[in-house]
Amino acid sequence: MTVDDLVVYLDAYMDRVPSAPPAGLSALDVDHTDFVLVGHSHFDHLAGAEHIAKNTGARNIGSNETAHVMLDEGVPQEQLLRAQGGEHFRLSDTVTVRVYPNLHSCIWSTAAENPGEIAAGDYGLTEDERWPPGRRLMMPDGADSEGARVAMEHVESCTGSHETGGALAYLIETPEGSIFYHDTSGCWTRVIGDLHPDVAIIAMAGRPNVDGEPTQGSLTQFGGRVTELLKPQMLFLGHHDAWMPPRTRDMTTEEALAPVREELSRVAPGVRLANVDYLEGTRLLA
Ligand SMILES: [Zn+2]
Repeated sequence: MTVDDLVVYLDAYMDRVPSAPPAGLSALDVDHTDFVLVGHSHFDHLAGAEHIAKNTGARNIGSNETAHVMLDEGVPQEQLLRAQGGEHFRLSDTVTVRVYPNLHSCIWSTAAENPGEIAAGDYGLTEDERWPPGRRLMMPDGADSEGARVAMEHVESCTGSHETGGALAYLIETPEGSIFYHDTSGCWTRVIGDLHPDVAIIAMAGRPNVDGEPTQGSLTQFGGRVTELLKPQMLFLGHHDAWMPPRTRDMTTEEALAPVREELSRVAPGVRLANVDYLEGTRLLA
């Protein structure tokens, strides 16, 4: 994201498995960045931030866990700004960012495979029930294919943490308007209900987490609920592409997004859902 001369990355992961469609840019090729805003510490958000920080001198805003991972990778302490929610950072003469606590999607629970599919159950469980011995995190059960093996090797090679570090949401405030950004499907409804950004970037993947419980419904309904709360003029979805086959599938096609558009027209009419390709320049604010 650019605002005048300011360049901000929203997460840093772009070097993916060969089976994923290429994003068109490598973290190693990034030659100018002022800040990287990291939503949480998992590899598919954080990996690449170490190269961007070391090659460009960019400062990294993220959790303590994110800072620890970056220190282990040799990023200087003075480039690491630690946040847990409640911070207000200046990014340039005219742009600031506020940090809020967010929730990570329920990776311990069953997720829908397409935006319109209803997922239910797993409500009210305690941590020992959410994480019974032997629960596998990264691959669906039975995914012992060559593709799954390559994906697991990729995960092992990536910079990141097995911990979320505490997921964060960001509100970037510019003279032209504000932009909400988070990178995992979860939220505290009472935290985001008063933000009213002009533009929202909402993650749509996995089993959404609303106020600490898995949603009883579809990804589409989660997107509608968050949009209803935020009331942006323009909406972008994130994390819904096929970023790591066979674990992920492509939910960016107009066909896959049809139920999302239908839900939005019902709960948040007037909000424009933008669907853009990798590296496609898009004006966020007039
Ligand atoms: Zn994650």
